[in-house]
Amino acid sequence: MTDLENARRWLAEAGRLCVLTGAGISAESGVPVFRGPGGLWRQYRAEELATPEAFASDPRLVWEWYDWRRSVVARAEPNAGHLALVELERRAADFTLITQNVDGLHERAGSRRVLKLHGDLWTLRCTGCGAESENRAVPLPEIPPRCECGALLRPGVVWFGEALPADVLEAAFSAAGRAEVFLVVGTSAVVQPAASLPLAAKQAGARLIEVNLEPTPLSALAEASFHGPAGELLPQLVEAGVRQ
Ligand code: NAD
Repeated sequence: MTDLENARRWLAEAGRLCVLTGAGISAESGVPVFRGPGGLWRQYRAEELATPEAFASDPRLVWEWYDWRRSVVARAEPNAGHLALVELERRAADFTLITQNVDGLHERAGSRRVLKLHGDLWTLRCTGCGAESENRAVPLPEIPPRCECGALLRPGVVWFGEALPADVLEAAFSAAGRAEVFLVVGTSAVVQPAASLPLAAKQAGARLIEVNLEPTPLSALAEASFHGPAGELLPQLVEAGVRQ
């Protein structure tokens, strides 16, 4: 059997399935990844802007970048890769989709059991009173935006150097630990602690399947590793595995 046939069968037969996605799954929707072509905004790298230090020193600059990212995502539509994961969720009894993405495209595609490790572009959080609110204004009427209490609002995302929400992380490791098959899609597998999830799953006995444009540090550990666009590969992995 080829790797593709094997992976289809594993995905079709797994009762407990866990998927980890990164920026790559949204690339074909027109949302740029951080590491790779199109990863720059003006002359800045994401690591220079997505930090508490950058926000403290220049909140306007950081908010201009987020306002631009929100405008890109607002124009984007879920692609065939997002939709294939909705089909996987429909089939597996125990399914968890863990995403590092903040764009909300999985939910827009129809995924329901989603753990968002890095928060959400559409949530704003007050740096003073801590209040959180949903905000979908594009562009934002005021930059940087302010809370009713007068303090600055920040994006409701996890920045480099910040802790992930403990409850979400715990649920993610629990899902990884009980998965029979763990599918990793479009992540460079270098941002921690998300990069540890596939390793934890494998240690607990899961089969690892990877989909990425190029090899990553995970490729050598995966039972099957497919290199190409997620929007083409995921439908191939999922459709042909539908039970009759
Ligand atoms: P990353 O930018 O580090 O890596 C993207 C990966 O996707 C690369 O390995 C690349 O080879 C692969 N890729 C690119 N296009 C692909 C395609 N069409 N099909 C399959 N694979 C493809 O992103 P990351 O690993 O998610 O981690 C970095 C951080 O980036 C995360 O914290 C995440 O929150 C943030 N981020 C999110 C978004 C989003 O929400 N859409 C966009 C950019 C960055």
